[in-house]
Formats: sequence, C-alpha cells, structure tokens
Amino acid sequence: NEELQSTCEELETTKEEVESTNEELTTVNEELRHRNHELAAASSDLANVFASTQIPILIVDGSLLVRRFTPITERVVRVIPTDVGRPLGDLRLRIRLPDLEARTMAVIETLSVGQVDVQDDQDRWWSLTIRPYITVDRRVDGAILVFTDIDATKRFGQQAEERSESRRTLLLEAEAARGEAQAANVAKASFLANMSHELRTPLNAISGYADLMELLVHGPLTAAQMKDIGRIKRNARHLLSLINDILDLAKIEAGATDLQLDVVAVDGAITTLREMVYPQLRAKGLSFTHAASDLFVRADAEKLQQVLLNLTTNAIKFTSSGGITIRCSHAGAVVTIEVVDTGIGIPADQTTRIFEPFIQVGRSLTHVNNDGVGLGLAISRDLARAMGGDLTVRSAMGNGSTFVLTLPAAEHGGASPAASPGASTIG
Ligand code: ADP
Repeated sequence: NEELQSTCEELETTKEEVESTNEELTTVNEELRHRNHELAAASSDLANVFASTQIPILIVDGSLLVRRFTPITERVVRVIPTDVGRPLGDLRLRIRLPDLEARTMAVIETLSVGQVDVQDDQDRWWSLTIRPYITVDRRVDGAILVFTDIDATKRFGQQAEERSESRRTLLLEAEAARGEAQAANVAKASFLANMSHELRTPLNAISGYADLMELLVHGPLTAAQMKDIGRIKRNARHLLSLINDILDLAKIEAGATDLQLDVVAVDGAITTLREMVYPQLRAKGLSFTHAASDLFVRADAEKLQQVLLNLTTNAIKFTSSGGITIRCSHAGAVVTIEVVDTGIGIPADQTTRIFEPFIQVGRSLTHVNNDGVGLGLAISRDLARAMGGDLTVRSAMGNGSTFVLTLPAAEHGGASPAASPGASTIG
C-alpha cells in the first residue's frame, strides 16, 4: 500500500511536469504561429511590391544564378519565369553589356556599387546599378541589378551636345567670315587710298592750269571765260575735299590713322573753331555762344579740331536763324562738348543713319540737298571713338540739333591716369 502511494505521488508530480511542459509548448506554438503570420505578411508585402513596381529589378545569387525579378524586367531585359535558377551568363538579354557577369561578380567581391549606362536592342538608354545583396545575417549573397530609364535625359543631353556643337561650328564660320570681311575692308581701304592719290594728281593739274589762265599767263580772258574759270576752280576744290574725306574714312576704317594723343585745352580748340567759322556765321547772320571753361581732354589736337569744325559747319549749314552754342561739361573721367544749333533738326528715324557714310537726310539719287556727300559725321564718329570717346546726337524736327562729343578728361599739364602717353595708332 505504501509503495502504491509513493508511486501515485510520483505519477502526480510527473503529471504536473507534463502539464507545465504542455503549457510551455502551447506558448511556443503560439509564438511560432505569430512569427509565421508576420513572415507571411512580409512575404506578401514583398510579392506585392515586386508585382507592382515598374522598375526592372533582377536578383542573382552568389554564383550568379537568377533568383528573382520584377515582372517588368521580363519586358525590358527579356527574361522569362523559367530563367529562375539559370546562370546570368546563359540569358540572352536585350541590353548590350558584354561584361555584365564580370561587373556583377566584381560588385559581389568588392562590396562596391557598380553603375553603367547601357542601351537595349532598340537603342533605349538605361542606367544599370548593381548593388551587393546582403542577407539578414549580414552576409553577401549575390547582387541586385536595378535598371532606371534615362532615355529622355540622355537624348536631351545628346541634343544639347549637338546643338552646342553646331553653335561652335556657326561661331567658327562667323569668325572666318569676320576675318574675310576684315581682309576685304583692308583691301577696300588700300584701293581707296591709291585711287584718291591717283585722282588728286590730275585734279591738282586742273586747278594749276586754271590758276595760270586766271593769272592771264596765256593772254587776256573775256568776262565769261573768267566766270567759267571761277566755276572750274570751285568745283575742283569741292572735288578735292571730297577725295580727302574718302581717303580719311578709308584710313580710319583700315586702322591706319596715326593719332598724336596730347593734353588739349578745350577752350583753345573752341577759340580756333570760332575763328575758322566766323565768315560763314557772318554770312548767315548767326550767333556763336560759348561760356569759357577750364577743361582739358586727352585727344589728337588736329583731329579734335576736324571733328568740331565738321559739327559746327553742319550746324551752320542747317540753321537759318538763331545761332550755334557750344556747351562743355565734365563728369568723372569724361568731358562732354555739345554743339547745339537752332536749325531744322533731324527726323527721329534718321539720327542713327546719319552717322553712316554717304547718308544725308532727304537725299535721293536724283536730288542732293547740300554740297556735302555725307561723310563728315561718319569720319567724326570714327575719330571720336578712336580717341576713346564717342559722338551722338539729340534732335527734334524744327527744334534744332545737339551733337554730343565725349572724350577722356585730362589733368592740366599731365595726362589723366587712364590714358597712355605718346602717339598711338587706331586698330
Ligand atoms: P554732309 O554734311 O557732307 O552731308 P555729314 O555726314 O556731315 O555729311 O552729315 C550727314 C547728314 O546729316 C547731313 O546731310 C544732314 O542731313 C544731317 N545733319 C548733320 N548735321 C546736321 C544738323 N546740325 N542739323 C540738321 N541735319 C544735320
């Protein structure tokens, strides 16, 4: 009986133990079910992501056997479901990359990220990124290949490249054309210079013989003959000044004018100017106003005089009442000399054109409205610019014109710091 009782107790203990083990097992089971559920969820998440992504992704294992790919990969890279488990090198992919295996292997071995732009058999551009495949326990077990569509960007880049290439070609052509134009300009200038010289020689002879006849060297002349000699001489003078103008312009435009840059007193130049134009002013009854200033410019004295004379002669030519005013001012490193008239003015649409050679307002082939030819302003502007200044005009029809000449300012007795001393050549 005692033995039975002790066996019974033992059994009781064993039963308790079994019961507790059972409980533990239930808990473990519960946990396992939970884990299983989580795993299923993760797996279905992954499957959904894989199925819905539009990015071609291909996973290979450590021996480069295809493990998995997104559905879109079938279209882009041309793999089929039965390719799973086959070596990467055995697949006939659409992309052209002969060393795909070597690159993938390199990524696995070096744990680096590989990137390369590839084209498929339809010339579409893809950027292929190869990354090592890392397992949960931090082992490298293969690689993951991701294809990004870069066709549009690539083509845009290529187009931009082509465009900039064609721009470069255009620039080169323009440069060549400019060179040719420059050469043509020099040829024109030298032709004009030669022609002017050739023209001047016989012209001097014409004037010379007219002078002899006027001096009655060949006997007496009738009044009518005398009048004609006067006409010959006037026209010869006119022709000579024309030829000189053409020569001047040709020289400036070919860059063959020597400039003697000095410090020039503006007032001195204007006083000389006044003396030169005094007869013309008197003949037309025009006034000449100039307020004394104490300004100096850095310029070629003779050329400055030529510009001022041209502007003032024009002003007198196109003014019938009132007069001419010269205004001088100084701002910073620039001296401005304005030649203001009360004449007929210049139409707004002509204020730029009159600086071109042979342009005169209202001139047509059959009608020349004054005795000039339209070179004065072209020469004056070229000279002003060659001296580091400029020449512009403000005008209103019927309200006179203001020609504005700017030149670099100079200190009295010395050059302004910006200007270089001595003679210089335009070019
Ligand atoms: P030119 O005096 O030989 O005709 P310019 O080049 O000096 O040549 O002048 C070109 C044209 O500009 C003139 O023919 C004239 O039509 C116009 N012009 C120049 N200066 C004046 C001015 N002060 N007032 C009105 N028109 C002017």
